[in-house]
Amino acid sequence: MPFRQSAASRTSQTSRTTTTVTVDGLPVTVTRKPIKNMYLRVRPTDGSIEISAPTRMSERRIVDFVRERRDWIVRTQNRLAEICEWQRSAGENGMVWTDDLARRAEATIRAALPGLLEKWTPIIGRAPSHVTLRIMSSRWGSCTPKTGRIRLNLQLGLLDPKFLESVLVHEMTHLWNTHGHGPEFQRRMDQYQPNWRQLRRELNQRPVMRRP
Ligand SMILES: [Zn+2]
Repeated sequence: MPFRQSAASRTSQTSRTTTTVTVDGLPVTVTRKPIKNMYLRVRPTDGSIEISAPTRMSERRIVDFVRERRDWIVRTQNRLAEICEWQRSAGENGMVWTDDLARRAEATIRAALPGLLEKWTPIIGRAPSHVTLRIMSSRWGSCTPKTGRIRLNLQLGLLDPKFLESVLVHEMTHLWNTHGHGPEFQRRMDQYQPNWRQLRRELNQRPVMRRP
């Protein structure tokens, strides 16, 4: 799943005002508008906290509202941070790709794929229509559930084979149209590969190889 940065909160629409308050160290964007109830949301893109509140609600009540939900907020932010980690990895760059490394990586993945697909297709209950290999700089894999196509980062062919397997399982799980990495995705991954979080953390510590 791509990690998209989206625009910050909209301000200055008639009859709504946006302010920022800090509640026990947590910055909270508060938008007041003509509504009846208060709503809280943690933005999936960056974990920031947003409140929609009735126009005349006191700041005191908003602060209490956030405090009562602090545990949930922090849990949700942690979960999001873990999810984003999967996409991040680029940055501290490692080696540079050469033709020889690319050939070796491709041969390794192509040799491993049939066995992995044979093993995981009955477990997951979905199979990709194509698996393509590419040099990628910010992801280990991606999936288009509509077409069944999975793309894998060629670098997986140069790492411990357990990572290729875990990324393949991850992307095959997306074939269930899990809408990102929400509860359904996590439930399935927990079932297919209980140590997937650990593997992902390990994989994301590997430096990403640079294009020549
Ligand atoms: Zn994913």
